[in-house]
Amino acid sequence: MFDRASVVTPGGVNSPVRAFRAVGGTPRFMVSGTGPYLTDADGREYVDLVCSWGPMILGHSHPEVVAAVQEAVARGTSFGTPGEGEVALAEEIVARIEPVEQVRLVSSGTEATMSAIRLARGFTGRAKVVKFAGCYHGHVDALLAAAGSGLATFGLPDTPGVTGATAGDTVVLPYNDLDAVRAAFVAHPGEIACVITEASPGNMGVVPPADGFNAGLKELCAANGALYISDEVMTGFRTSKAGWYGVDGVRPDLMTFGKVMGGGFPAAAFGGRGDVMAHLAPAGPVYQAGTLSGNPVATAAGLAQLRLLDDAAYAKVDAVSAELRALVGDALTKEGVAYTVSAASNMFSVFFTDRPVRNYEDAKRQDVFRFTAFFHSMLAQGVYLPPSAFESWFVSTAHDERAVERVAAALPAAARAAAEATA
Ligand code: PLP
Repeated sequence: MFDRASVVTPGGVNSPVRAFRAVGGTPRFMVSGTGPYLTDADGREYVDLVCSWGPMILGHSHPEVVAAVQEAVARGTSFGTPGEGEVALAEEIVARIEPVEQVRLVSSGTEATMSAIRLARGFTGRAKVVKFAGCYHGHVDALLAAAGSGLATFGLPDTPGVTGATAGDTVVLPYNDLDAVRAAFVAHPGEIACVITEASPGNMGVVPPADGFNAGLKELCAANGALYISDEVMTGFRTSKAGWYGVDGVRPDLMTFGKVMGGGFPAAAFGGRGDVMAHLAPAGPVYQAGTLSGNPVATAAGLAQLRLLDDAAYAKVDAVSAELRALVGDALTKEGVAYTVSAASNMFSVFFTDRPVRNYEDAKRQDVFRFTAFFHSMLAQGVYLPPSAFESWFVSTAHDERAVERVAAALPAAARAAAEATA
C-alpha cells in the first residue's frame, strides 16, 4: 500500500507527520478503529496512543457518535445554507468557553488560525504577528517560521514557498520568555496586531506554559493594543471541559479550536470577543468564507462528541493519562534512561533528557535516537505512538484496564531498547 501511495502522493502520505521519516520504517495503513485499538491492513491490532493526533477523545467508533453521523448523512451531506447543527455546535462552544461570545466554524485548525490572524490584523489595522518557536499553528504561510510538529520532526527551520514578504511580518520569539515579548513590543511600537500562542504547547512535545506566562502575554497585549490569540486547536475540549482556558483562566481576545470539536471530521472554529468578531464578514469588513464550513455531518459528529464529554469523561481521560505516565516513568527509571515525562492535564510526552524542557531549544537537546528505539519496540509489540519525539501522546475515555495492561507489558522491552540505543 505504501508503495502504491508513494507513486501517486508525495512521500506516500497526505500529511508529513504520518510518514515514518523521523523514526524510519514503513507507516502502518490503518483500516479500522474500535475504542482504544487500531487495526492495520495486515490485521495487526495496536493500542492507539495517537488518537488521530487528538480528536478521538472518546476512542474510535464511539456508538453514539457513529449513530449521530449516520443520522446526519441520511438527511444529506451538504446544503450550502445555514443549518441547525452548526448553530447547536456554536452554542455548545460558547456555553463551555466563557470568553467566546461568538464563533465562526471552519474546516481545519489551519483555517482557524489563518482567519483569526487576518481578523486581528483587520481589527487593529496592524501587520505584525508574534509567535513562539516550537509552536505550530497549522501550515499558514506566515506561521511556518520556527514551527514545531512536522517541521520539528524533519528539522526544517522554515519552508521554501513562503516568501520573505509573508514571513517578514512574523516575529518569532523563544517560548516561556516574557522579557522577549516585552522587548518585541518596544522594538515594534504600534505595529503588532497580535500574539498567537498554543494555549499549552504540544507541538514541540508537551511544554506547558510557566506560571504566569499566559497571563503576562495577555497583560502585555492589552497594554500595547494588540490581541492575545490562544490557539486551542489541540488543547480545546481536551485538557478540560473548557480546554486550557478551563485550566489557567486567562481570557484571550480570540481563540482557535479544532480536533476534538469535530469528532473525527473536518470541523474547526475561531471565536472570542463580540466586538472583534463583529468585524468579520458579513457583519463587518474582514472577509472569510468556506463552502463546507459548518458541514452538517461534521457538526453532528462534533456535537455528539462534545455532549458526551462531561466531568466524568475528563476524570477518566486524566486518570488513564496519569497511569500511563507513571508506567512509562517506572520502566525508563528501571533501565537507567535519562527522561522527563512532561504533562499538561491529560496531554503528555516523554523527552529523552533529564534536563528541564521549557522551550523548543531545550526540547531539541533530547536523545532523539533513544525515542526511535523506544518507538519501534512499542510498535512491534502492538502499541502505536506518535512517530516523532516532538509530539504529544493522546489517550481517550476508551483506554480501559486491558489497553493499559498491554502498554505496561510492552514498556520494559521498549525501555531496554532505549537504554541500549546508540546515536
Ligand atoms: N494549531 C495547533 C495547536 C495544532 O496542533 C494544529 C494541528 O496539529 C493546528 C493548529 C492545525 O490544525 P489542522 O491540522 O486541523 O489544520
